[in-house]
Amino acid sequence: MPRLALVGVPLLLALAAPLGAQEPTAPGNTAAAVSDSAEIALGAMLARQFDRDRGLVNPTEQNRRMQAYLQGIADSLAPYTRRKLPWTIHYDSHPGFRSGFALPGGHIVIGAGILALMNTEDQAAAVIAHEIIHIDGGQVQGRIADILAKEHRSLTDSTQWRWGEFGRSYGAARENWCDYDGAKLVVRAHYSPHAYESILKTFVALGTVWTPDKPAPKAITDRITQIRDEIAREHWEKLTKTRPIALPYSND
Ligand SMILES: [Zn+2]
Repeated sequence: MPRLALVGVPLLLALAAPLGAQEPTAPGNTAAAVSDSAEIALGAMLARQFDRDRGLVNPTEQNRRMQAYLQGIADSLAPYTRRKLPWTIHYDSHPGFRSGFALPGGHIVIGAGILALMNTEDQAAAVIAHEIIHIDGGQVQGRIADILAKEHRSLTDSTQWRWGEFGRSYGAARENWCDYDGAKLVVRAHYSPHAYESILKTFVALGTVWTPDKPAPKAITDRITQIRDEIAREHWEKLTKTRPIALPYSND
């Protein structure tokens, strides 16, 4: 029997992971030191600060329609999130802002620069879902807790907090997790998980032109490998149907 057991263990492991890739597990975050209502209040404060600093308080008609389009995508993801937060999009029209980030309490900032690189709504949903997971998975709460542990701040004093503190990367493990769990979220909302691969490959393709002497960043290629593994593991190969991105023009 011991011989059989020795043979059996690797066989079981092989069956559990046929692709040879370890299924990611949720990274641990510092335990939430704030209640949902305190996080929502802090988020509202930071969102007002962001809108003011970035000139979004009185948006143009074009920007208002862009925000509404992206909000519609966030609303279609909302029924499938764990935390029931007021998921709110803030659209920043700066063309050099090729990214997004998450503020406490459900606020998602999306830059025009990353939208300009997209051809499907599914890619926009993928980026919004990634940012939602930063909040839904407790990473943003963890960052608040880390800041509170290091510095004696008041959660209710807006002068002690800056929105930029939430724009920094959460590190490879957490960023990868937001793609991994975000893919599950977009699939539930009937978007294609392949959109993660296509938007990441867009960054790799741009890199070959903009920085031809540099290899593709490992942070990006690892995320491409991860989504490919996840698609195979979840049998999502056929979920390739996408809808074109429908960025509005103000005179439509
Ligand atoms: Zn992220």
